[in-house]
Amino acid sequence: MRTDVSKINEQSPYQDLTKGLHMYATATSKSFNTGEWRTNTPVFYSEKCKQCLLCVPVCPDSSIPVVDCRRQDFDYDHCKGCGICVKACPFGAIEMREGQ
Ligand code: SF4
Ligand code: SF4
Repeated sequence: MRTDVSKINEQSPYQDLTKGLHMYATATSKSFNTGEWRTNTPVFYSEKCKQCLLCVPVCPDSSIPVVDCRRQDFDYDHCKGCGICVKACPFGAIEMREGQ
């Protein structure tokens, strides 16, 4: 079944979802706030940050924005709280906090 992705929402029954591995639309990730179901939250301490940018490429959700070669605070709309960035930071500039 081909589903109109613009009509999918939290109330959509599973029968309306597309089959696994089928893609019917591209570039839709920005439309979905995956940060809503985050259980833990990374916290950025800018005063400790050395701007090495090691945390940026390891984020699987591209949730660490960079502007003019400087790391910005997290994109909490899309961060899913996996904690990979915490492990990548050698300067203790990121910590995980329980909850949203
Ligand atoms: S916790 Fe995970 S998803 Fe969130 S910014 Fe860090 S690496 Fe990305
Ligand atoms: S890895 Fe740590 S020090 Fe480097 S840019 Fe990211 S938060 Fe800043």
